[in-house]
Amino acid sequence: MATVLVVEDERDIREVLRRFLERSGHAVLTAATGAEGLRLIDTCHVDLLLLDLGLPDIDGTDILREVVGNLPVIVLTARSDTRDRIAGLQEGADDYVVKPFSPTEVVLRVRAVLARGGSVGAENGRSFGDGALRIDRERRVATWGGSELELTSTEWDLLTALAGTPGRVFTRSELVNRVRGDELGMYERTIDSHVKNLRRKLGPDGPRVVSTVVGVGYRFGLGPDA
Ligand code: CA
Repeated sequence: MATVLVVEDERDIREVLRRFLERSGHAVLTAATGAEGLRLIDTCHVDLLLLDLGLPDIDGTDILREVVGNLPVIVLTARSDTRDRIAGLQEGADDYVVKPFSPTEVVLRVRAVLARGGSVGAENGRSFGDGALRIDRERRVATWGGSELELTSTEWDLLTALAGTPGRVFTRSELVNRVRGDELGMYERTIDSHVKNLRRKLGPDGPRVVSTVVGVGYRFGLGPDA
């Protein structure tokens, strides 16, 4: 049973989502504000976040940036504007639903995202490349060919951001964002040296696991295991 956190200021939407999600076998937490949502993320086990972008206290995209890479997120947005949807996905949301939506559709998307990512809280985490790489976010451990990788926190953030969506190309500025480099005064070019170090730790296959997309950025080159 997965725990879904619904962060949504409109009471009716919150409650209808709770009802439908509970009916389909999920445990549900709800928050009416961004601050309450972040508090629950910090203090409770959450497998997936349903996040309204239009919140009264905090911009939903700021919350998205905060949790992305650690938690699958489906964005709820009233803005049907294509630009906003793309912005949400670029910030790393796993999917988005435009209001008004049918609760059944949301439940199906929740199921799809959870199936795709496996349960983030699963004991063995996720594995890639026929088990070559395993990432266990809860224990914050990554193993490569069975041996534990000793990663810096930046390398860990990089690896989990890239592996969060295998095959997707991430620009350097997105990666800077993911590793919270903006707070640390990190620049786009610094990403290159962190990628280099991460690859070195992955050995000869490093450039295949994290491949360069010339002129754009990087992408995770292993396929996710079922
Ligand atoms: Ca709202």
